[in-house]
Amino acid sequence: MEACDLKDIKSMPLSLLEGEMETMGEKPYRAAQLYRWMHVRLARGFEEMTDLSKAFRKKLEENYDFTCLKPVEVQESAIDGTRKYLFRLGDGNLVESVRMKYRHGVSVCISSQVGCRMGCRFCASTLNGLERNLTPGEMLDQVYAIQLDTGERVSNVVVMGSGEPLDNYDNLLVFLKMLSDGNGLNISQRNITVSTCGLVPEIRKLARENLQITLALSLHASNDKTRRELMPIARKYSVGELMDACRYYADCTGRRITFEYSLVGGKNDSDSDAEGLARLAGPMGCHVNLIPVNPVRERDYVQSAPSRIREFQNILQRNKVNVTVRREMGRDIDGACGQLRRKFLS
Ligand code: SAH
Repeated sequence: MEACDLKDIKSMPLSLLEGEMETMGEKPYRAAQLYRWMHVRLARGFEEMTDLSKAFRKKLEENYDFTCLKPVEVQESAIDGTRKYLFRLGDGNLVESVRMKYRHGVSVCISSQVGCRMGCRFCASTLNGLERNLTPGEMLDQVYAIQLDTGERVSNVVVMGSGEPLDNYDNLLVFLKMLSDGNGLNISQRNITVSTCGLVPEIRKLARENLQITLALSLHASNDKTRRELMPIARKYSVGELMDACRYYADCTGRRITFEYSLVGGKNDSDSDAEGLARLAGPMGCHVNLIPVNPVRERDYVQSAPSRIREFQNILQRNKVNVTVRREMGRDIDGACGQLRRKFLS
């Protein structure tokens, strides 16, 4: 049988797996057993599931594809110990994930697509366009492979690597539910962040899913003109429409939204930009995360001077906005925001 005919077992929530076992004529408890092997014990293949009979394992091999990402390269930052993983997917495509260690735990930044089609001007992930969406299993396995590699429990997951998560909505949703499932790795939804460039209909849809995740909006400009220069998606949805969607999200979920704002020297870092941002973030009680723009070879954007960043932050603070400047992790290994890119094996 061709690999493409096989069903993707790692992307199946427990309820679906139960149905599968039933049609296979297996005992119902087999589903929970298998789920545990994949999502708690993090088995790398059916052959590791030694308490399943050989005959049953063979049947599984014949009917299912088992997603298992292979690290082809791991780079570690000499500055802060951040590790960047390059993973090979089953079809040969490559994605990158980043592991950061903080005092309060281990955070993994995962990719949601191979490449990206959003075209943000300052971001390396979109330079070669979109190749394909990642499956729920491929998103989960980035977390699993890293946890296995380091031997330390992953406590936080941010969907901020390559890709636009809300452009891969259905798979993202299955992933979020499985990652936070008590039968699986059981990562609290409050420790999961999804970052979007601002797809308005999907933000509204996500608001109704009854999740407690954190939504981060990549705002980067407080007016339409500047935002359109930086992000093509801003030609589709205005800042006003975006703010309406954010208010709706906060109302439905009771969760505060984070605004991400990459500071680009001379582009979006003036006093009036800061005042505009304060007017948007203040009334909604949003947290603002400032990111000094990271260098991308193909682009000539520059970081704002440190004194400018401080003043921008001061203006927000004077307006009672909760603001932090993101620590740049892993810049020396191109592991920082916007530096992940589609890789090809030579
Ligand atoms: N597509 C999603 C998630 C991926 S990007 C999104 O747009 O939110 C994660 C964050 O890094 C986003 O806020 C993105 O705008 C930001 N980013 C991209 N390139 C960057 C760069 N060169 N420097 C700083 N931040 C960047």
